[in-house]
Amino acid sequence: MSECLFCKIIKGEIPSQKIFEDEDIVAFYDINPQSPVHILVVPKVHKATLDDLEDGDAHLVGKVTLAAIRLAKENQIAQNGYRLVWNCREQAGQTVFHIHLHLLGGRTFEWPPG
Ligand code: 5GP
Ligand code: ZN
Repeated sequence: MSECLFCKIIKGEIPSQKIFEDEDIVAFYDINPQSPVHILVVPKVHKATLDDLEDGDAHLVGKVTLAAIRLAKENQIAQNGYRLVWNCREQAGQTVFHIHLHLLGGRTFEWPPG
């Protein structure tokens, strides 16, 4: 997907503050943080929305989730609590159509979400 912003970040064509990378996923700081810690954990394979995931992607989704949990601990937000968010399509607030898991922490969050 040559037009995709996150594919370009993954390929290094657009700079980002990467904090983790392996063969399947990458994590980088959100450019417009909504909390003191705001990290995006992104599968390298292009999937526009969560609805493009299939049964065979269970391992990938697990890797993304476990990476976010580990990054929460490493960034000292685990003990007080943090939030993991997947936005799916416009009404949920998705703006970049390459799936990504938001790791948010370092402040109190409201529930229900806005
Ligand atoms: P969404 O709204 O799709 O759930 O989340 C997209 C996120 O990507 C937003 O939080 C937004 O701030 C972030 N974002 C958009 N463009 C860039 C960029 O060029 N670099 C980085 N690091 N984050 C971006
Ligand atoms: Zn992409």
